Amino acid sequence: MLQSKLFPGSLKENPKDEKSVSAKYLIRAGFVDKVMAGVYTILPLGWRVLDKIEDIIREEMNAIDGQQVFMPALSPQENWRKTADRLNKIDVLFEARGANDESRRRNDATYVLNCTHEDVVTPLAKKMRFSYKDFPFALYQIQTKFRNEARPKSGILRGREFRMKDLYSFHRSEAGLKKFYEKSKVAYTNVFNRLGIGEETFITLASGGDFTKDFSHEFQTECEAGEDLVFKVKSTGVCYNREVTPSQAPEFKSEEEIKKMELIEGKGIIGVKDLVDFLKIEIERTTKTLVYKNEKGEFLLAAVRGDYEINEEKLCKVVRAERVELARAEEVKKLVGAEIGYIGIVNVPEKVKVIMDDSLKGRINFEAGANKTNYHVVNVNFGQDLESPKEFFDIKIAKDGDLFPATGEKYEVFKGAEVGNIFPLNTKFSEAFDYRFTDKDGSKKIVYMGSYGIGSTRAMGVIVEKLHDERGIIWPEAIAPFKVHLISIGKNEEASKLYEKLQAEKIEILFDDRDISPGIKFAEADLIGCPYRAVISAKTLEKGKLEVKKRNEKEVEFLTEEELLKRIK
Ligand code: ATP
Ligand code: MG
Repeated sequence: MLQSKLFPGSLKENPKDEKSVSAKYLIRAGFVDKVMAGVYTILPLGWRVLDKIEDIIREEMNAIDGQQVFMPALSPQENWRKTADRLNKIDVLFEARGANDESRRRNDATYVLNCTHEDVVTPLAKKMRFSYKDFPFALYQIQTKFRNEARPKSGILRGREFRMKDLYSFHRSEAGLKKFYEKSKVAYTNVFNRLGIGEETFITLASGGDFTKDFSHEFQTECEAGEDLVFKVKSTGVCYNREVTPSQAPEFKSEEEIKKMELIEGKGIIGVKDLVDFLKIEIERTTKTLVYKNEKGEFLLAAVRGDYEINEEKLCKVVRAERVELARAEEVKKLVGAEIGYIGIVNVPEKVKVIMDDSLKGRINFEAGANKTNYHVVNVNFGQDLESPKEFFDIKIAKDGDLFPATGEKYEVFKGAEVGNIFPLNTKFSEAFDYRFTDKDGSKKIVYMGSYGIGSTRAMGVIVEKLHDERGIIWPEAIAPFKVHLISIGKNEEASKLYEKLQAEKIEILFDDRDISPGIKFAEADLIGCPYRAVISAKTLEKGKLEVKKRNEKEVEFLTEEELLKRIK
């Protein structure tokens, strides 16, 4: 490719409205263009990279017997109603409808703009495959997804429109699903190794949602621009997404003597920050108590140390609820006789269940809401002012500094960008669409399913986040837009010959044939980030050689054409 012809050519300024390195470099170097928040055009340079990323993904999906399809972006609302009313429950779901009267006169239907494809692929599979002989099988696509994300962030890392490889597997049994699921982990590991981010990408246990009691598995790349927090157990290497991290609070030690409980008036003092200032105590002495209601309308109190938040998913597991939600102000008042903000774990009406987090364990002289409007109590002690609970639980959101309960070791905590996610769906979607197969003995049995996603555009952004320096991108060879960036300094004729020769050898080459200063050419070559830079100038020609530099190395070498060819082949 001649750089003089390349669309659009690099920009000179950093885009002002982008904070992440990947967005800055990808926009400035002309890989992508921002259309609006969360929506990007992939430009020729970007498409060359994305195409290679998706080729690698495709190869690995084919290797586990995935068959490629291409499903539509639009789907009927009806499908999404069937799957436990996901039409009304998925908070990022977009719809599409005729934009004006004339269009709506032709057809006034409203469609879903797909954010994922379980709701499309399950009826497809059901239509085609229903004998035990047909299983297992897996379908995948690489396709555009639409999600109404609250905060598109970091360029193509979180878009409202983005590309994803999504594979769906179908099995006769849970055991069959599990076997394929393990194979998919290997395939995913291969993908991220080949993309050059394998070393920093960790299989991370995450919530199984309402599909399974087991975990799902995320592929989290350690990355400052990532939006997830990963907790790694150093002794075993096991990683947890924050949402499911088992956590033990480091104990809050105090050498004080046990004091007598005191009722303190603190009108309008609500929340731990206020309490810390007002009572002049450490935040670890405060107690956060919230009133929840489960799906049956039963109330419970949940309490954590003031420096923690409650993890509702953990709470659900502890109290065996399908879901919990915060009780409304009037419900709280009725239940404990005080207003929200003054709720505590002392003087709790007997019938109310209290779930205490283990961060409350071992504290002395702590604070709690008094269950009396405008009042708090201080110097509260277990055994003295309330009974020591029979059991403490883990219902908190883990934070940096927490310990892994099984071994007591401190987690290593890092930010992660989720580049992939695999899910044992089990029978959630097959039940919804009544997808059964006929077994050998003629009986009808439910199909087991798994789903497996990789964000290819996000992966492209993450690779830039990981592989760059202060001058620009450093693409791994497998996905670089071009292998060689040829730069001529005033010697276009000789350079043209070499360009043609390398092209004839099927080497992907970008030739900077522009009549501009060498300084700009070098700067743009570093910004674009091809693995090899080869310079032809009067100086190099004198030696009968080219000046060759790898993008990720400092040293230049002088090589003949033949030596260069040998090196890059
Ligand atoms: P996140 O937690 O980051 O919102 P998710 O868990 O909702 O992602 P999945 O439904 O598991 O995402 O989608 C599969 C993959 O698609 C993700 O692992 C991620 O790589 C990618 N992906 C998801 N949402 C986006 C987005 N808004 N922009 C770009 N890629 C995305
Ligand atoms: Mg996910």
